Formats: sequence, C-alpha cells, structure tokens
Amino acid sequence: MTESRYSVIIVGGGIVGLAVALEITRRFPRVRLLLLEKEDHVGRHQSGHNSGVIHSGIYYKPGSLKAKLCVAGAAAMVEFCREHGIPHQICGKIIVATEEEEFPRLEELWRRGIANGLTGLKSIGPEELRQIEPNATGLRAIVVPSTGITNYAAVCDKYAEVITAQGGTILTSHAVRGLKRTANEIVVETNQGAFSTTSLINCAGLFSDRISRMAGDDPQVMIVPFRGEYYDLIPERSSLVRGLIYPVPDPRFPFLGVHFTRRVNGTVDAGPNAVLAFRREGYRRTDINLRDLASSLSFPGFWRMAAKNWRSGLDEFYRSFSKTAFVRALQRLVPAVQPTDLMPGGSGVRAQAVTREGALVDDFKFVPSDRMLHVLNVPSPAATASLMIGRTIVDTASNTLGLQ
Ligand SMILES: Cc1cc2nc3c(=O)[nH]c(=O)nc-3n(C[C@H](O)[C@H](O)[C@H](O)COP(=O)(O)OP(=O)(O)OC[C@H]3O[C@@H](n4cnc5c(N)ncnc54)[C@H](O)[C@@H]3O)c2cc1C
Repeated sequence: MTESRYSVIIVGGGIVGLAVALEITRRFPRVRLLLLEKEDHVGRHQSGHNSGVIHSGIYYKPGSLKAKLCVAGAAAMVEFCREHGIPHQICGKIIVATEEEEFPRLEELWRRGIANGLTGLKSIGPEELRQIEPNATGLRAIVVPSTGITNYAAVCDKYAEVITAQGGTILTSHAVRGLKRTANEIVVETNQGAFSTTSLINCAGLFSDRISRMAGDDPQVMIVPFRGEYYDLIPERSSLVRGLIYPVPDPRFPFLGVHFTRRVNGTVDAGPNAVLAFRREGYRRTDINLRDLASSLSFPGFWRMAAKNWRSGLDEFYRSFSKTAFVRALQRLVPAVQPTDLMPGGSGVRAQAVTREGALVDDFKFVPSDRMLHVLNVPSPAATASLMIGRTIVDTASNTLGLQ
C-alpha cells in the first residue's frame, strides 16, 4: 500500500540532496518532489559538521568534476548567501610550506589554481606571510584571496525553506528502509509508511552505498567513514590566527591536513584530522557499530586500502588520542600555539568511497541506473559546490529520470 505518488523522491536531506531538490523545484515547478530525511532536521550530518569553508578550487585536478563544480559553485554559494542574508565572508586563505621538500607540491597547487581559472593568487615569502598572519611561520606560501567562510547548516535551512516555497515537500524523521522497483513505479518504504515514485535520487551521504544496494544495484564502492576531530582555540588566544592557515596537503589523500579556520561567528578551530571511524555516524572515539564495522572489514577494498595506508592511518590514530601530537602538527604552522590554548571542539564524519582495489575515490561520483541516480562520492568541497552539483545532476539526468 502506498500513501502517495511522486515524480521524484530524493533520499537524504544533506546539502547535496537539498541542492538537487532546489534545482528541480526551480526548473520544473510542476514536478511532484518529495525529499525524505531520517533525522528530525535537515543538515544534521556532514553538512552540519564541517569547516564552513567556501573552497576556491585550487586543490583539484584540472578537468575533474571537483575542479569545475567547486570554482563555479563557490561563486554561486557566495551569491546565494548574499541574496538570502546568510553570514559569509571572503577572507582569503594561505597555504604554507614549512619545509623545502613541500615546494614542488606547492608549485603543483599553483599550476592547478591557474588551470582552474583562479585569479589573484600570490606567491609570498616569510616576510609577507608574517604581515598577513603575524604568528604563522613558513618558507613560502600561496595566498588564495577568493576563499571564504560561511555556515553550511544555515545554508541547508535556507535551501529547505526555498524548496518548500517552490512547491517541494520535505519530510524529516522519515528513514528509508526498503526500495522496490517494479515496471511502472518505485516503492520507497520508510519507518512512517510507503511512498510511490517514478524516479529516485540517492543522496544519502554516509549510507549512499547501502541505499544503492537496497535498490538492487551494485555500487562497486564502499563508503568508509573518516572522522575529523577539531580543537577550538580558547577565546583569549583566538587572536593567534586572523584567517585561514593551511599546510600543503599530502597528495596521496583527499584530506587537507590539520589547519586553522576562523568561523563566521569569530571563533577559531584547529583540525580536522582524518581517523578511520568504527561507526558511519560515529562522532566520538568510543562510537562503534558492529554492522558498520563488519561491512567495512568484509569489503576487499578496505584491506587493500589499509595495506597501502597503514602507517599514516596509525599516525592519525595516535594524533587522535594524543593532544601533544595534534599540537605538534599545528605548531608547524603557528609555533606559538600551546596545548593550553586548545579546548576540545566538535567533530564530523566524512563519507569516503573506496573501490574494491582499495583506492580512495578522488572525484565526485554520480551513478545512473534504471530510473535512479546514486550520488556515491561527494566529499569536500561538495558543500561549496552544492548548487553546481544540483545543476549538473539535473542537466545530465532530467531525461532519464523523466523530469521534463
Ligand atoms: C569534518 C568535515 C569538514 C568538511 N569541511 C568542508 C568545508 O569546509 N567546505 C566544503 O565545501 N565541504 C566540507 N566538507 C564536505 C561537506 O560537508 C560534504 O561534502 C557535504 O556535506 C556532503 O553532503 P551530503 O548531502 O552528501 O551528505 P550529508 O550531509 O551527510 O547528508 C546525507 C543525509 O542523508 C540522510 N540519510 C542517510 N540515510 C538515510 C535513509 N536511509 N533515509 C533517509 N535519510 C537518510 C542523512 O541523515 C543525512 O542527513 C567537510 C566534511 C567533513 C565531514
């Protein structure tokens, strides 16, 4: 028995599911759209537990979806924040090399930035670095003036408000538990009844691989959760950092390395690290879910990933338990920071797709299947890029999903 019939159902009310819903309701006002979110509010997971940075696009391989959608998405995000009065600031950021061996990687970032169309990049030495960030130290740095900050939880709330005003329906506290695809409909079973739809878009973040399997598809990847833990600078010491100070990232990983981020509310946080989590929504070190753990351990790609990256994985675990080790990583950028300057902050859990071969999927990944689209890898900078992700999905999938 189904309660109602929709043209399209979106699973997941994070920033990506909401951005897709925003674009569909904007372009196709007559389409009956329903978004189902298992929590009692939208944006409760990755989209509400991130660094709040509007990334510029300097990091990503030219030509990749990440590069294209981040650069255009950052501009669209700033415009959206402006239009809707959401706090944001284009504060710029610096990426700092603290050792000579990082110079080639810094130069590669410069080349990527230019290739991705960023303007205003500046290469600076220690003197200029100190003028911008008096407490930072380094041998060379890149200034990226277009980087900004916002509050993505507030962005999610506004997306939800606009979707509803454009005629879409959002039901929170509705967890999708089953999917049945028949010749002329897809039945979506939830904890509060079933819904029928012509097409479905899976934007379930940390559970997107499970939703794909629920539909009878083979996602070919496993979502592995990586927790990112933050410390906050105590208010008396937040003047140590004026803006955003980042290290040169290790190109083997899709994570940026612990950095300092000033938030739109004026606080400064340090982090996030990237620790393997034993639960998909495991925000604390002690959070373990046996099903999540067993599904990771039974996936061949997990062991291949572990074999390739065990050393850096252990370093991250050590840094998670040892504040001294965490502070040491931060002191490479700002030597004056001391353990007493930091208090425990929040955490977030990244949904990182891993292939059977053990590779961490780098680019965004959208996989179509009969009347469905599975959004299987949208890690950072997907919050920045969300409006462009929504547009791209609607551009490429509106025919196959019957949205015209
Ligand atoms: C620590 C951290 C820092 C980051 N920093 C930045 C940053 O500074 N800038 C940036 O651009 N990006 C950043 N990111 C990345 C960004 O936050 C994510 O890429 C983005 O939020 C992904 O959005 P999403 O909608 O795919 O996922 P989510 O926000 O996780 O949303 C998925 C939703 O699906 C729901 N769901 C799951 N299963 C079901 C089900 N069965 N039924 C119904 N609903 C379901 C969940 O409850 C959830 O609300 C960061 C991420 C993390 C974790």
